[in-house]
Parts: sequence; structure tokens; C-alpha cells
Amino acid sequence: MTSHIAFIGLGNMGGPMALNLLNNNFKVTVFDLNQDAVKVLTDQGAQAADTAQSAAQQADAVVTMLPSGEIVKSVYLGEDGLIQCVQKGTLLIDCSTIAAEDAREVIDAAHEADIGMIDAPVSGGTAAAEAGTLTFICGGDDNDFKAAKPILSAMGKNIFHAGEAGAGQVAKICNNMLLAIHMIGTSEALNMGVSQGLDPEVMSEIMKASSGNNWSLQVYNPYPGVMPNVPASRDYQGGFMVELMNKDLGLAQKLAERSNTATPLGALSAELYQQHQNQDGSGLDFSSILQFLKTQS
Ligand code: NAD
Repeated sequence: MTSHIAFIGLGNMGGPMALNLLNNNFKVTVFDLNQDAVKVLTDQGAQAADTAQSAAQQADAVVTMLPSGEIVKSVYLGEDGLIQCVQKGTLLIDCSTIAAEDAREVIDAAHEADIGMIDAPVSGGTAAAEAGTLTFICGGDDNDFKAAKPILSAMGKNIFHAGEAGAGQVAKICNNMLLAIHMIGTSEALNMGVSQGLDPEVMSEIMKASSGNNWSLQVYNPYPGVMPNVPASRDYQGGFMVELMNKDLGLAQKLAERSNTATPLGALSAELYQQHQNQDGSGLDFSSILQFLKTQS
């Protein structure tokens, strides 16, 4: 039974995820470059390590939640990388959202060293990270997936095995491209209806009971004031940043190019979100694309 986890990357997502491991009676050793983020976890009973390597050396499994593929590769690969310093039998789980080929490169290196590893990006955002209800979308060998499941279950509700190494990243990026498309579509529909004098709340109820129903309408309404407790009703603060959506849409467009797949709406969404970030969307939740549309009329 895996009981001691090294958790590396304690940001908006990783912090609450590590806390849920602690609350589920795992022993947790943490590392982050940001000492304030480390202190939040040590105050709750986690142990702190001076380096990622020393955290990982003591653990049965390592979970990483880092911003980019470049950083994930710098943490795992090379002479000082985690793959070279963990004990045989340690399971590596990377939950960051990164390109599928970066995930495969790291997992291949782990397998060469006879270490098990899966990619396990998440869907659900910071609220789900706090509530322990994330969706994990995994790629890798069956045995590694099965070994990771009890750990992931302490942080999430739905745990999928999408396929081989990198498959979790592919499924995650396809999902987030669709999320951007229906958030923009929902914002366009609400904005046009309101311009004709309709109440955004009434319009939302009509579309939820009609063929336009979708996740953005159900739980993440982009129109301010329609739904309590969503970023749109607190000036688009918190939530899933425009910058992170742009990262994911960039990964989706690279995948579309490599796989020679037509994604015209994905490409347009990437363009619109980039324009929004350049204009005034930086630092706002991604549902603020509605504000951007208002400036386009
Ligand atoms: P974040 O920027 O809040 O946290 C990243 C953390 O990693 C920071 O605390 C940073 O100090 C730390 N870090 C960076 N380099 C490091 C290194 N070399 N060693 C140790 N720690 C290091 O980011 P986040 O919002 O927690 O996102 C993390 C990942 O989760 C990203 O890949 C993101 O795309 C993905 N994701 C985020 C959300 C969301 O809603 N925020 C949702 C799903 C997936």
C-alpha cells in the first residue's frame, strides 16, 4: 500500500490536492520554489524537503503539478532529475497539463530506468481541487494506472484511463478546446440576446432547457450576476486564467498540426483568446471572453 507521497508544485491546484492527500491519511512530503506555498502545507502537517530530489527519495510515489512541459522535463530528466534519484518501485504521477510528446519523452525515460510513470492531467479547476472532486485523465501502462488509482481517488471523483503514455494529455487538450468553443458560443448567444433587451437570466434558463444547453450554461455562466459563486459574478477573479486557456489552446493547435486534423473552431478560439489576453483579459478568468465580445461591436 502506497502511503508516503512526495508532492512537488503547490500552486492554485497542487496546494489543495496535497492537502486532500494529507486529509486522507497519506504521509506527504512537499517541495515548491515558493516558500509561502510550502508553509500552507506544513501548517497542516506535511513535511517540507529542501529539494525536489530529497522529497522524492523518501517516497513511495511522487506527484507533480507544474506549470509547463519545460519545467516538468527539467524536474524529471537529466542527471539530477527525479527519475535518476528515486528508489526502484517508486511510482511517478505527473498531473500537469503539458504536450503529449513531452509526457511521452519523460515516461519513456522513466521506463528506461525501470520506473513506473503515468500522465494524469486534471479537469475541474481550483474548486474541484479543493473539494477533492477532480477528474483525472490518465495515460500509461495498466499496472501503473491501477497503482496510481488509490492516490488519485483521494483527490478526485472520476478517474479515467484514456490509453497509453501521453493519451491523458491528448484527451485533456481535446476537452479544453471544446470548453473554449462552448464558452465563446455561450457568450455570443447571451450577449446578442441581451443587446435585444432580453434578461440574461431568462435567456440562460431558456437555453438550458433547449438545444443550446451546455456545461458553461449549467455551472459557469459567463454573464455577471446570473449565477452566484462563479468568476463572472466577482469581476472574473479566480477560476481558470485566460493565460492557462491560451496555453491549452496553443497545445491543441500544435496537436492539430501534427495530427493533420481540421480544427477551424479551435483555431479561431485560440485567436480570440489571444486577442482577449493582449487587450485586457490578462489575469482574468476565461469566462471574461464575454467582456471581450462586448468590445468588438
Ligand atoms: P500555479 O502557477 O498556481 O502553480 C504552479 C506551482 O509550481 C507554483 O507554486 C510554482 O512555484 C511551482 N513551481 C514552478 N516551478 C517549479 C519547480 N521547478 N520546482 C518546484 N515547484 C515549482 O499553477 P496551477 O494553476 O496550480 O496549475 C498547475 C498545472 O495544472 C498547470 O499545468 C495547469 O495548466 C494545470 N491546470 C490548472 C487548472 C486551474 O484551474 N488552475 C485546471 C486544470 C489544470
